[in-house]
Amino acid sequence: MRIDDLTLAVAVEGLKAKEFSSVELTQAVLDTIAEKDGAIHAYLTVDAEGALNQAAVADQARAAGADAPLLGVPLAVKDLINVKGQPCTCASKILQGYVSPYDATVTAKLRTAGAVFCGRTNMDEFAMGSSTEGSAYQVTRNPHDPIRVPGGSSGGSAAAVAGGEAIAALGTDTGGSIRQPASFCGCVGFKPSYGRVSRYGVTAYASSLDQVGPMTKTVRDAAMLMQVLAGHDPHDGTTQRLPVPDYLAAMEGGMKGLKIGLPKEYYVDGADPEVMRLVKAAVERCSAAGAELVEVSLPHTEYAISVYYIIATAEASANLARFDGVRYGHRAADPEGVFDLYARSRAEGFGREVKRRIILGTYVLSSGYYDAYYGRAQKVRTLIRKDFSEAFNQCDLLMTPVAPTPAYKIGEAADDPLKMYLGDIFTVTANLAGLCGFSLPCGNTSGGLPVGVQMLGAPFREEVLFRAAAAFERL
Ligand code: GLN
Repeated sequence: MRIDDLTLAVAVEGLKAKEFSSVELTQAVLDTIAEKDGAIHAYLTVDAEGALNQAAVADQARAAGADAPLLGVPLAVKDLINVKGQPCTCASKILQGYVSPYDATVTAKLRTAGAVFCGRTNMDEFAMGSSTEGSAYQVTRNPHDPIRVPGGSSGGSAAAVAGGEAIAALGTDTGGSIRQPASFCGCVGFKPSYGRVSRYGVTAYASSLDQVGPMTKTVRDAAMLMQVLAGHDPHDGTTQRLPVPDYLAAMEGGMKGLKIGLPKEYYVDGADPEVMRLVKAAVERCSAAGAELVEVSLPHTEYAISVYYIIATAEASANLARFDGVRYGHRAADPEGVFDLYARSRAEGFGREVKRRIILGTYVLSSGYYDAYYGRAQKVRTLIRKDFSEAFNQCDLLMTPVAPTPAYKIGEAADDPLKMYLGDIFTVTANLAGLCGFSLPCGNTSGGLPVGVQMLGAPFREEVLFRAAAAFERL
C-alpha cells in the first residue's frame, strides 16, 4: 500500500474496518520513508523496529476487541518532543546521543490513544529559525522543489507530511514554526491557543510563547489530533482548566455569518505580490460563500518583530542554561576547571544561531539594560495583546498571509539573520497574544510553490477557527 495522500481520518477508518493492519500501515510508512527520504531528509531518525513492535501491539489489542481514537496510526514527531526510548536531539550537537527517559504529556496522550511513533523529524536547532537550515545534522528539502527550504522550524514535520512520508506529524510553534512551514510545504498547520496543550516534556525555547500542535493534510485530521492533545495537565501550570471543545463538531457550521477581520497593517506593500494575490483570492472566496469582511487595525504591528526577538531570546537564554555539559548534553574533554568545562561544552555543542540568541537574550536581561529592552518589550507586548482583543470585538477571526514569501532557495537567507527574522512578521504576533491560528493551503504560485493563508482566532475560541477553516477547505 502507498501512504502518499493518506489522511489520518482515512487511516483510522481503514484500521477500524480491518482493511489493513497497523503493521501493514506502519510498514508502508517505513517503505515510503526509505524510498523518499534520501532526497527530502525530513527525518533525523526512524525507529523501524520500535514502530513495528508498537504496531503489532496495536493489532493484538484490536483483535482482542479494543479500540482507541488513533489505535495503530503511525505519526512523526518533531525532534524536541520526548518519546520514551527514542533520541531527542533538538537537531543540536549538544544533545547528540540523548535518548528520552520519559514521554512528554502530548506523547503519553497519543500513546494512550493508540498512536505508533515512527520517527523524529528535523528542525532548526532548538527551534530557533525559519528554514530548518539551522539543523546541526542535515538540510531538509521542500518536497515541491528540492532546491528550496521547507520553512521552519518544524520543517521536517511539514516536509514529511506534504511529501507523503508521514500521515500526520507534531510540530511546535513559538513564533510561527508550525504555520510557516505548513505554508511553505502546502499542508495544514494549527497552533493552539497558549495554555491549551501541555508542554511538559517538550524542550523549552521561549516558555511564554511555545505551543505544540498538529501538522496534517486536512483540517479534519488536525481536529482529530487536537481532540487527543488538548486539555489541562498538572505537569504544566500554564495549561488552562477549560472544557476542551468538540473539534470535529466545530467543523460544521459553514462560512455564512462569520465576520472576518482584515488587519490593514498586514495588507501593505512589501510582501511578495503572488502571495498577496493568493491570500486576497482566498478572502474573496470566503466572502462569496457568505462571510462578512471588516477592516480592522493592529496599530502596534510594526513593533512585533523587535518585541518577539527580545522576549524569545531572553527566555531562551534562561531555558538553555541547563545544557551545560553537567546536567545535560555534550561535555568537553579534559576541562581545566569548572568554568572551562561550561564554556567549552557550550561552545562546542551549540550552533551559531543558538549562540547568537543566548548572547542577545543574556544582554537584554542584564542589569542596566533590563528596563530598556526586556521591560519595555513586555509593555509593548501588552499593547499588541490589546490590539487583538479590540480587533476581536469587531470580528470572529482574522485572515492574513502566513509569510511574506513562498519557500525561498536553500542558502538564500541563511547568512542574513535579520532578513530571516523579518519573515516572521505575520506569525509572531499570535504567539505574543496567545491566539490560536491556522495555516491553510490557498493555492500555488505561477512557479508551482504552495502558499498558505492564516486564520487567527481569539484565545480559546478554537471552535470558530475550526468552523472557518473547514468551510474554507470545502471551498
Ligand atoms: N522563526 C521564529 C524564530 O526563529 C519562530 C521559531 C519557532 O516558532 N520555533 O524564533
